Amino acid sequence: MKKVLILTAGFGEGHNAAARNLRDALEMVSEDVRVEVLDLFESSYGSFNTLVKNAYLGVVQYAPRVWGGIYSLLDNSTFVENRLTGFSRLKNALGDILHEAQPDCVVSTYPVYAHVIRELYRNYSERPFRFITVVTDSITVNSTWFRAPSDLYCVANEPTAAVLKAGHVPEAQIRTLGFPVSPQFTEPPTTPVNTPVFGEPRRILYIINTGKKKAGKVIDRLLEIPDAHLTITVGRDAELKAKLMERTHEHDDRVRILGWTNQMPQLMLSSHLVIGKAGGALVQEAIAARCPMIINQVIPGQEEGNARLISEHELGAVAERNREVPDLVKEAFAHKARLWQQWRKNLAMISKPDAALRLAELVLTECECSDPTRGKKRLFEPSATHAVPPARAALNGPAESRMLLCDFHIHTNYSDGKLSVPEVVDFYGRLRFDCICITDHLADPRRLIGKLARLSNMTLAGDQLEEYFEVIDRERRRAWKKYNMLVLTGIEFNKDGYTKKSSAHLLGIDLKAPIPPALDLPETIAHIHAQGGLAVASHPHIMKSEWGKNTLHLWENQEKYAPLIDAWEIANRHNIFDCVGMKRLPFLANSDFHKPKHIYSWKTLLYCEKNPEAIKECIRRNEHVSITLYREDNQFTRNAVRPGETGNEADMIRLEPHLQLKAAHR
Ligand code: ZN
Ligand code: ZN
Repeated sequence: MKKVLILTAGFGEGHNAAARNLRDALEMVSEDVRVEVLDLFESSYGSFNTLVKNAYLGVVQYAPRVWGGIYSLLDNSTFVENRLTGFSRLKNALGDILHEAQPDCVVSTYPVYAHVIRELYRNYSERPFRFITVVTDSITVNSTWFRAPSDLYCVANEPTAAVLKAGHVPEAQIRTLGFPVSPQFTEPPTTPVNTPVFGEPRRILYIINTGKKKAGKVIDRLLEIPDAHLTITVGRDAELKAKLMERTHEHDDRVRILGWTNQMPQLMLSSHLVIGKAGGALVQEAIAARCPMIINQVIPGQEEGNARLISEHELGAVAERNREVPDLVKEAFAHKARLWQQWRKNLAMISKPDAALRLAELVLTECECSDPTRGKKRLFEPSATHAVPPARAALNGPAESRMLLCDFHIHTNYSDGKLSVPEVVDFYGRLRFDCICITDHLADPRRLIGKLARLSNMTLAGDQLEEYFEVIDRERRRAWKKYNMLVLTGIEFNKDGYTKKSSAHLLGIDLKAPIPPALDLPETIAHIHAQGGLAVASHPHIMKSEWGKNTLHLWENQEKYAPLIDAWEIANRHNIFDCVGMKRLPFLANSDFHKPKHIYSWKTLLYCEKNPEAIKECIRRNEHVSITLYREDNQFTRNAVRPGETGNEADMIRLEPHLQLKAAHR
């Protein structure tokens, strides 16, 4: 088993994107590799880091001109080196991790780590692992990236390689592989992109994250272009989404407005043009998708390089102001789309959609070069007492019953949860859960509260349901391979009325396909059962500790629903509903997880075989079902809560995977 440690930092978008994509690619190309992504700025600095990050992001987002100044300062001085003494905690943390983990290869997507590693191994004969830096900047590359040594430097393109050569990095150490975009960019587009002829739609993807105020006007003018079809993404800005929906409602046959989406690769692969800011990841993704780009904002500093990449290589255009965007779009498609065709041709020459896979292959080759004689400890693998059999063995070996730790009520950022689906999988996987079910809210649009909820982006949008199923499907495979954990797809159907007695939340567990949101409860349950899923009443009684509304409809109408419902939550997070026990109804206990600290809550233990059918049958029969209160143990408390520190405890749990968290029952 090869071990790869990827170091990143949440500053800006490029570093994290590169780290995650490389991890996904490594797991795709090899069965024999264990990869961890670590953001030490998050886990070793706590509140201090938040401060640094806010300062950094604040400067980047709100005062681009100031940032430009800082950027050149960084480049010309020994800014990082001088601050290394201040980074002693980071250094100690990284030293501990490297000592324990003994990785074969360490990859850094953030320049500071190279300096820390140089400090760590200054007095040692040799660093016992290969070290690769993935430069996430393009053309305007800060020298911090290469002032400390790495075995190899991977860059996105030739102009960036030239900057490193000019900075005296030996040519043999530079690899021009492309920016590691998601391996999903290698998939064929769902809607192929051809030169649009008269009357055919020009599919334009408009990614709004800045210039929101003027976006409406730009959209109006884009819609004046004949055959322009717009897909607009607004991220988490529910207010903007509502405004734009109203503004464009007359054109809803050619305007689609999305909130937050996981499907960016497919959207780009299927679009003729993308409009957005010159962010590192976005520009590289557009290039990978061969989708010409119109840049509507450039922050001085790193982003200038990205914009130059587009303009100098003629891969699209850079608008001086947002209002010039519609004219640039018109120009692109004028004269039988001559300009657009040229952009596409140029893109085809430099696009490297498989960069992450190539980089993964390189990392695996480098693993072979690391010193094979040193003793290898097993940090990345579960400790002996928690040994998890390899997935394959579990599949082929004799099926046997065992105690399974489960959580069937989990929210992600598809509704009002904090973590994304992949983050939830990593979070629960590292805690060695056996089975989880992701259950984001789906509101009934016929109910007033449902309508409000839809606008506030706190529930799954109807047009995102398919994407939701796809994303969980993908993560299901990864979770099984990496953590031997089952991931089920679920939905929490919110049927909210004006009163608690007319409100109900119903979980559908292990669903195979979307179910329409505007159905009555019995119809919804029938759909769940038709798919082989379980219908579970969530928080069916009065909740004492939550501010949320109570949902008593199912409980108040037990005679009607008890025969239809497979199980009732006897406990939800900190609440316990003894009435469910008194009535001897089939039961389950769940976290109703929205953020990391919710992990400390009631859970279900099942004694059965580890596969979805056996798990569902165990719940239906409600034999060998028990509940447990999952609490942090002392070791965790000792490690995570440091005296005098007011860091966010929850984030610590999420970001310190090297802590051995244990379930109290094991
Ligand atoms: Zn609920
Ligand atoms: Zn819930």
